[in-house]
Amino acid sequence: MEGLAPFERDCVDQAAAAPMLAQVEAWAAINSGSRNLDGLKQIAGELANAFSALPGQIELIDPDPVEAIGPNGKRVAVPHGQNIRLTVRPSAPLQLLLTGHMDTVFGADHAFQSTHWLEPGVLGGPGVADMKGGIAVMLAALLAIEDSPLARRIGYEVVLNADEEVGSLGSADLIASAAQGKRAALTYEPSTLPDGTFAGARPGSGNFSFTVIGKSAHAGRNPQDGRNALVAAADLALRLKAGMRDGLAVNPAKIDGGGPNNVVPDLAVLRVNLRPRSRADQIAAQKLIDSSVAMVTAGHDVHIHAHGQFARPPKPMTPALEALFGVVRSAGADLGQTIGWQSTGGVCDGNNIAACGVPVIDTMGARGGSIHSMEEYLIVDSLAERAALSALTILRLAGASA
Ligand SMILES: [Zn+2]
Repeated sequence: MEGLAPFERDCVDQAAAAPMLAQVEAWAAINSGSRNLDGLKQIAGELANAFSALPGQIELIDPDPVEAIGPNGKRVAVPHGQNIRLTVRPSAPLQLLLTGHMDTVFGADHAFQSTHWLEPGVLGGPGVADMKGGIAVMLAALLAIEDSPLARRIGYEVVLNADEEVGSLGSADLIASAAQGKRAALTYEPSTLPDGTFAGARPGSGNFSFTVIGKSAHAGRNPQDGRNALVAAADLALRLKAGMRDGLAVNPAKIDGGGPNNVVPDLAVLRVNLRPRSRADQIAAQKLIDSSVAMVTAGHDVHIHAHGQFARPPKPMTPALEALFGVVRSAGADLGQTIGWQSTGGVCDGNNIAACGVPVIDTMGARGGSIHSMEEYLIVDSLAERAALSALTILRLAGASA
C-alpha cells in the first residue's frame, strides 16, 4: 500500500473494516426472488434503512408497468417490486452512478433459502455473491468516502433495482435517467471469475415472443382451409436459428400452442432469445427478425405479432471504458491487487448504462462463484478487498476531476 496518500489509507482501511459479512448474512436470510413481492418489499426496507446512513434523500420508486405474452397469446401484466434511488450532492464536480440489484433468481418456493459455511472463509447462500455481497461492498465504500476529505467533491446516485434477474424491464428507464450526466458508473455484480477477474465487453440480449395466428379447420374434412400456426411458428424458429453466426447467437426456446389431433391449430407462441455482439449485430438481428416474420407470414398465410426488444444493448470495450479500467487497475496495484478483465457472454444492468454513453465497470462486487445455482458462494475476504478497491477508485476519480 505504498502508493497511498495518508487520507487514502484511512479511507481504504475504514471501508475494509465495515461489518459487511453480518449484512450479507442478514440480507441473504430474506428471500428476494424477482417474483416475491413481499420479500422484495422487506429487503427494500432493510436496504433503505442501511443506506440511510449516507447523506441525501432515499426514495422508493414504483417500477414501470411491464407486459408479457401468455401461452394463450394474450398480454398479461407482470408486477415487480419497488426500486431504491438515493441522490447525494448532485452539484459536486464528480458525478457517479452506483447500481446494484436486490432481487435474486431464487423464488420463495426454491430449496435454496439460507446461508451455510462451505469451509472457513467461504459462505454459501442465495444471493451472497449475486449480489447482496456486492451491495454491502458498495455501502462500505460510500460510507468511508463520506468521512474522507474529498467527499464534498463527490456526488453520486445509487440505484438498487428489484428486477435485474428478470431483465430490468421495470427499472431500465430509472437506471437510464440516473445515468444522465455521470462521469462513470460502478455496478456491483460479482467478479466474472473467483480470482476477481472483471467483465469487459458483454453481448446484448433480446427476448421476443411471436404470437402466430392461423386458422383452425378439421384435420380430415377440410385441412386445406386451415392455416397451421404451429407449423408456421416452427418455420419461424428454423429461419431465425439459420441466421445464427459469429456475432449473433439465436436460441428458439419454447413454443406454446396446438391442441387436439383432429384440429388444425390456429394459435402458437414462439419464444426466442437473440444475443448480438455489437450494435451492428443488433441491427442485423432486427432485420433477420423482420424478414423472417414477413416470409413466414406470406408463406403460411398467417398473422404474426412480435413482442419484445433488445432490452440489454451490447456493451463493447470503448476507449472511455479502457480508461476507467486503467483507474481501477492502478488503484488495485496500490492495494496489492492484480486487476484483469475479459469479455463474457452474460448481460446485466451494465449493458443499459453503457448504452447511455457512460463508461461502466459492472463487476465491482465480491468474489465468489456458482451464481444462479445452489452452489453459489462468497469468498468472505473479498468483501474487505473489494470495498477498499471501490473506495480508492472513487477517490482517484475525484482527484482526477479536481
Ligand atoms: Zn447479479
